[in-house]
Amino acid sequence: SAKAHGRNRFNYFTPAMQNDAQKRMQLVQDLKNAVLQGQFELYYQPIIEFSTDRVVKAEALIRWKHPTMGFVPPAEFIPIAEETGMIIEIGNWVFAEAVAQSAKWKKQFNMDIQISINKSPIQFRDETTDVNDWLSQMAELQVDAKNICIEITEGLLLEKEQNVEAKLLAYRDAGLEVSLDDFGTGYSSLSYLRKFSIDYLKIDKSFVNNLTPDSNDLSLCEAIIVMAHKLGIKVIAEGIETEQQRNLLEFAGCDYGQGYLFSPALCSDEFEQQFIRSVIKPMLLTDLVTH
Ligand code: C2E
Ligand code: MG
Ligand code: MG
Ligand code: MG
Repeated sequence: SAKAHGRNRFNYFTPAMQNDAQKRMQLVQDLKNAVLQGQFELYYQPIIEFSTDRVVKAEALIRWKHPTMGFVPPAEFIPIAEETGMIIEIGNWVFAEAVAQSAKWKKQFNMDIQISINKSPIQFRDETTDVNDWLSQMAELQVDAKNICIEITEGLLLEKEQNVEAKLLAYRDAGLEVSLDDFGTGYSSLSYLRKFSIDYLKIDKSFVNNLTPDSNDLSLCEAIIVMAHKLGIKVIAEGIETEQQRNLLEFAGCDYGQGYLFSPALCSDEFEQQFIRSVIKPMLLTDLVTH
């Protein structure tokens, strides 16, 4: 009511807010411990190429196993990691882990699965992480640049600073690919697509959620796909949960799909079990037959 509202006008710090602030402080402290104690794990969500029905890529998604609270979703701790600067260290860990994984899949299974890594705008602004450090880590493990993709969000492209653009270019010059994530949800401006050359555009799952024939969302997806293709950009749809969504997107010319219809993000062992060994085994059998 207005009266209650008036009475609380100067009482900014309500008990509920105090509780929130305490929770946040605790989470910041726990996150510091998580970095020190290595409580993170990278999960991998398969990305399917529609034309071949094969898993050709995977998105690396961080998971935090909190000692008492269980899994804490990234949506809850990534923003805190960004605000406190911890995202730099976490992001460097994510990169190193993904590169090691890529090297392992190549060495053990001779598989070239491209791993996408989410990179926050803050990581681009940071002066301590050098593009060359990352490139030399890849060289050391003999990871082909094409097997690593960097996912950026539209917010990054708003940055005026020159070095954001320069860093992005340095990655691309080295042969890494770049995806524009969550397309359609940010400050999408077509001029960014002209200014920054990217390899993939990921249609945000909010456009895929309610995809039905004759829906406005389908018209939007179709338009995005046509536009991207005219610019030489391939399209990945995220958040595909039903066969109908997949079929509509595939028919609209979408190149790749990602979502629970295919698989959620899996730990690396599970990913290998389901998407690498099952592909490799028949090849090994035919090898045996022909020898
Ligand atoms: P994102 O990059 O857009 O990743 C896709 C999110 O959608 C993931 O959530 C994934 O699990 C979820 N998803 C995939 N398929 C479906 C589906 O069919 N239905 C629904 N409802 N959801 C689906 P997740 O893993 O919770 O990550 C959330 C966000 O946190 C990511 O969104 C990304 O922005 C951020 N994030 C995750 N890992 C990292 C990381 O290593 N570094 C940074 N900087 N951000 C990360
Ligand atoms: Mg992403
Ligand atoms: Mg995304
Ligand atoms: Mg998204």
